[in-house]
Amino acid sequence: RTPVPPREPSVPRHEPDLPRVIGTGAPVPLDDGGSIAYANFDYAASAPCLEAVHEAVTRTLPYYSSVHRGAGYASQVTTDAYESARETVRGFLGAWTRAAVVFTRNTTDAMNLLAHAAPPGTTAVVFETEHHASLLPWRRAVRLPAPANPAEAIEAADRALAAAPAGPRLLVVTAASNVTGEVWPIAELARTARRHGARIAVDAAQYVPHRPFDMTALGVDYVAFSGHKLYAPFGAGVLAGRSDWLRAAEPFLKGGGASDSVSAHGDRVRWSADAQRRHEAGTPNVLGAIALAAACDTLAATGWDALVRREERLLARLRRGIAALPGVRELTLWGTGVPRVGIVSFVVDGWNARDAALTLSGSYGIGVRDGKFCAHPFVGHLLSGAAADGAGCGEGDTAVRASFGLGTGEEHVDRLLRALAELVREPR
Ligand code: PLP
Repeated sequence: RTPVPPREPSVPRHEPDLPRVIGTGAPVPLDDGGSIAYANFDYAASAPCLEAVHEAVTRTLPYYSSVHRGAGYASQVTTDAYESARETVRGFLGAWTRAAVVFTRNTTDAMNLLAHAAPPGTTAVVFETEHHASLLPWRRAVRLPAPANPAEAIEAADRALAAAPAGPRLLVVTAASNVTGEVWPIAELARTARRHGARIAVDAAQYVPHRPFDMTALGVDYVAFSGHKLYAPFGAGVLAGRSDWLRAAEPFLKGGGASDSVSAHGDRVRWSADAQRRHEAGTPNVLGAIALAAACDTLAATGWDALVRREERLLARLRRGIAALPGVRELTLWGTGVPRVGIVSFVVDGWNARDAALTLSGSYGIGVRDGKFCAHPFVGHLLSGAAADGAGCGEGDTAVRASFGLGTGEEHVDRLLRALAELVREPR
């Protein structure tokens, strides 16, 4: 169906001083044949692009060219832009001067690169609450069950690192859960890792779009995130951190750029000793890196205090509203009293998650995600708790996730709450 203009002059009113995202308020069709301004509650999957990101890409296009190897002016300009994107990301993450900042495709790619680069025999200590991108890539892993509170997380990591076999150890942990939005005690976990001579890798995919991150201050060895969750397009992500493992490892991909010199018959190669070059073989995603850096710049320039305060207001409104709906149960690991980002997962009595999500879309123009959010063990754990508590988990043991960001306003939250109230009144 072709969307027709919204029947209510809804949304976008952009708040002053707030970076603008593209697509806020675009009309979407409803099942009754009408249309309504889209209420996007799926930022945790992929956030819409910032206008500033679009502008940065547009500015680059006239000089669009390959990086590093060309001598022409456009190639020089593009190489400068690509390398300066790296420095922007370094600043955004609070990475030290000599840290490697490798452009990857996304967080999954970044974590797999780290798993590849970790020395043979490395033991990864990882909670079962992780997204699959951080749960699955490790050759040897000790898996820890979902901790009941942040203090227990630190104790469990402490015990596991103490008991891990000799050799390199790597604690892998998310900074903010993609299921519950709960923020993990990264500084304390980093101290715990350090006490055992272990390293810590942080999955910051859901954290950096919402909160400032300073890996040097936190004592974090590696951090990974994705541009498409940070208001930039798909296809560019980052692994930043210590360069020694990366410099010592075989290139993740073998090819041009990663190789400094190749013998006459191609049988002997000297791989680049630069951690970044070594693991960025082939023509890199230059526009993706520039876009991602523009998003970093824009968020940093806006000021985190204002962004965080605004998000906390919206989150409190949403969570309060959900708590007041008897048939909707929020999934939470740690309950109240822990910081969280704008992500709320829940189950609706009498509805399976898929039908609830499709109805939210078709009847209310609200985009949420349903499923297990690539965190099957964690969602399974939370749903077994919800079931034990009497909440209807629906068929297939899946949940609905509402996640939001810069284009979300109170009117969207209120529309979602109204819709959920109606769903509860009319179980399927
Ligand atoms: N880690 C977390 C916490 C995520 O939420 C996601 C994506 O949902 C990922 C990793 C994987 O990100 P990507 O699909 O961009 O690799």
